[in-house]
Amino acid sequence: MRREARNMLTSKTKIYGLLGYPIKHSFSPLIHNAAFEAEKIDACYLCFETKPEDIKQAIEGIRALNIQGVNLTIPHKEICLSYLDEIDKNAEFIGAVNTIVRKENKLIGYNTDGEGFIKALKEDLDFDSKDKTIFLFGAGGAGKAIGMSLAKYGAKQIFIVDKNKKKARALAENIKENFPNTIAELTHSHNQEAIKASHLLVNATPIGMNPNDNLMINPVYFPQQLNIFDLIYNPRETKLLRIAKKKGLKAVNGLGMLIHQAALSFELWTGEKAPLAVMKEAVEKK
Ligand code: NAP
Repeated sequence: MRREARNMLTSKTKIYGLLGYPIKHSFSPLIHNAAFEAEKIDACYLCFETKPEDIKQAIEGIRALNIQGVNLTIPHKEICLSYLDEIDKNAEFIGAVNTIVRKENKLIGYNTDGEGFIKALKEDLDFDSKDKTIFLFGAGGAGKAIGMSLAKYGAKQIFIVDKNKKKARALAENIKENFPNTIAELTHSHNQEAIKASHLLVNATPIGMNPNDNLMINPVYFPQQLNIFDLIYNPRETKLLRIAKKKGLKAVNGLGMLIHQAALSFELWTGEKAPLAVMKEAVEKK
């Protein structure tokens, strides 16, 4: 169904959205509404701030209110698996869902974070994970998708740090079980040897969202071959990125991943090719 004119919401307008807590900082409404507008799709994308204790009712609400699809962000990507009718193989394999698609009366969970990350890694850092050593901070919803995708694309070794050791260990086990050629191990942020051997450092924790956050790692040991990918995009430049750039390292924020994972969600919802340039421009303008 196409929409005739800008901002003409009607009884036929399809509703999409984002469930997360907190989400006031999110750029997703900007990106998706720009894409719907550009493709003249009669749909709108809203933010539904949803506390962790309300996620079950929120997912029931998607069914009850005939919402067509949602994205999930911190802290709902893992817990939501229990409340869906079907989980796509890739999302099940990762153990996290960031996109729900309504198909008739079923809610199906997908994960576009991993592929979105790999696309941004190539585009923004020209980095191919094959045979590389990676230092990954965070084994939560996004960290799991990233760890599994890096292994899928041939990473040689992945060091994983998370303040929740159980999560880091579980991710390392999952990688080893599914990708026996990748060495995956739990480590700590002071492991100098691991940092010195790494080609890529990924921050998939919220550390850095607050400008007063301490750096999670001592940059003194950053080797010259190290690339840095910080998933945070607001602020645009975290302390980690600023310091890495000062040291002459290639370092990028999470905007590229945000756009690519959004484009893949858009394609799952609409069956149409996402207008990547429009989605990028919407964020650049902001
Ligand atoms: P999540 O599921 O809550 O995972 C974050 C993980 O980091 C948790 O396991 C958490 O442990 C751990 N952690 C928190 N503080 C830590 C610390 N000081 N040291 C070590 N580990 C720590 O969140 P998420 O959905 O994966 O998101 C993570 C970050 O990535 C957020 O900043 C989010 O905005 C960003 N993100 C960006 C994109 C993008 O497209 N650019 C996409 C997805 C996510 P606890 O559970 O014990 O707190």
